[in-house]
Amino acid sequence: MFFYSTRHQSPNANLRQAVMQGLPTDNGLYMPSHIEKLPASFFDQIENLSFPEISFAVAQCLLQDTIPAADLKEIVYKAINFDAPLIPINQNLACLELTHGPSLAFKDFGARFMAQIMQYFVRQSKQKLYILVATSGDTGGAVAQGFLGVEGIEVIILYPSKKISELQEKQLTTLGNNITALEVAGTFDDCQHLVKQAFLDTQLQQHLQLSSANSINLARLVPQAFYYVYAYAQAKKYGKPVVFSVPSGNFGNLTAGLLAKRIGTPIHHFVAANNANNVFTQYHHTALFNPRSSVTTLSNAMDVGNPSNLQRIQDLYNNDIDAIRADIDAYDYTDQQTVEAMKQVYEKYNYLMCPHTAVAYLGINSYLANHPTEDITGVFLATAHPAKFLDIVEPALNIKVPLPENLAKLVDRPKQAIPMSTQFADFKAYLMQL
Ligand SMILES: *Cc1c(COP(=O)(O)O)cnc(C)c1O
Repeated sequence: MFFYSTRHQSPNANLRQAVMQGLPTDNGLYMPSHIEKLPASFFDQIENLSFPEISFAVAQCLLQDTIPAADLKEIVYKAINFDAPLIPINQNLACLELTHGPSLAFKDFGARFMAQIMQYFVRQSKQKLYILVATSGDTGGAVAQGFLGVEGIEVIILYPSKKISELQEKQLTTLGNNITALEVAGTFDDCQHLVKQAFLDTQLQQHLQLSSANSINLARLVPQAFYYVYAYAQAKKYGKPVVFSVPSGNFGNLTAGLLAKRIGTPIHHFVAANNANNVFTQYHHTALFNPRSSVTTLSNAMDVGNPSNLQRIQDLYNNDIDAIRADIDAYDYTDQQTVEAMKQVYEKYNYLMCPHTAVAYLGINSYLANHPTEDITGVFLATAHPAKFLDIVEPALNIKVPLPENLAKLVDRPKQAIPMSTQFADFKAYLMQL
């Protein structure tokens, strides 16, 4: 078992190299050399297994013998210490709540697993590790929480100034300790570009041991497959084919779902649900991929104009657009539709959704409308808690959303962030003086 670059222009890596480097030198993304299937017997009795038990089996299947089983089990059990319940909404629909982690967003899964696995590797070396992460909102909070206090690791978070919610900003900028926030005068794509350039800069590489924490890191991707398999285990009792609707930005979440299907999970279909940043929908319709600058929407964690993980999806399907279409539908929605969906679901089912979750809800409804003869269980993924987006949710629904405990305690803490331009020279100068 090894990991190759989707661009095939850089050497293969072992797990340690793939996780610590984050990105292959050819600007591709790491993929496992082969993907085995879990045995059918595993799925026959899966409803009797706990979430950590399922997660460990999936991790072993995807990572094979790259980490000794006892060590991998410890990593998985430490990372997956909160639930991902499947909440029934109506006869055909259920919501997979990925919002029960420390930062109240699904990125906690990836961040916690990566923190554990990196700590495992750092313990074996003496050199300090610097983690660079660009965030459009929720990554930063999850990474900050996941790595807070982890010895031997410094985390540097780049976020687009004024493009994330106040509470999201608090989650990145109030922890201190080994977590530093850089407030970039630009967009998420600018932040991501700065991080990518840093990894391609040999002088920086000699000065600091750098790693990334974006969804492009394999250690973020693998644990996201866990909850699809666990969701299947919970949905199995309904006895119908399962379709997942995934609110997508950089497409790490959807890619992990495709991996879950590849290892044998009986998943009928996927929906890629997008906001106005619809380059994937257009690729799906036309087979032409035209990345462009992102536009700001209410579902800001999905404001990505050049989704990195498309490389992995194309790799998984050998660049065959028809094979991609056979597994994935793609739809996109306006902010107005997003707000309407939040209202409708609150009024009809008394269920509160964040704007990203609302896009996923719209996606599963489009699927049902476009496949009227199918009797399925539609699962839409709740990727963040509605309280993280009070400024959108409260006026839309005309209600007060109570703050969960771990958000409430951040409100009065002072923000600490270093201002940064979008020029790579400035970012590099900052890193060189560390
Ligand atoms: C990051 C994020 C997304 C998009 O996930 P990708 O894996 O980048 O496609 C959706 N919703 C929320 C709340 C997020 O934080």
